[in-house]
Amino acid sequence: MGVRKIKMAKQKHIALIAHDNRKQDLLEWVQFNRAVLSEHVLYATGTTGSMIARDVGLDVFRFKSGPLGGDQQVGAKIAEGEIDLVIFFWDPLLAQPHDPDVKALLRIAVVWNIPVASNRSTADFIVSSHLLGEEYERVVLDYEARRREYTGRNF
Ligand code: PGA
Repeated sequence: MGVRKIKMAKQKHIALIAHDNRKQDLLEWVQFNRAVLSEHVLYATGTTGSMIARDVGLDVFRFKSGPLGGDQQVGAKIAEGEIDLVIFFWDPLLAQPHDPDVKALLRIAVVWNIPVASNRSTADFIVSSHLLGEEYERVVLDYEARRREYTGRNF
């Protein structure tokens, strides 16, 4: 299958999301990495974003709350090429009413080859990577070309 490359700028667009039992963990991580994160453009689901703005004082664009469509909004932005990186501390011990949305978001992040941190140590590795502050070319499988190949259709 062919591939194509998508350029990520030095300044990354980062989505931050945490389920309720993981919000404290995420807030501590954001506070600890405040200086680095302030160099990037931050997005978050509703409640997570409000807490980051209130407790850490960082500017963050807020989508709707996760259960009300926020996770899907983040997924849509990934598909549109507007989000480069996802820090999503999801709850491994509690089913969520919007579990299908969570799964959809994690899936679309794989489709678009977006780095995703589901826990703090992965987030630490990402935030300390030299790639965070550099341009980077993401390799994405050319699913469109494959579809055209299979269907013989050019639309
Ligand atoms: P919230 O959504 O930030 O609005 O709590 C997070 C989620 O449950 O996906």
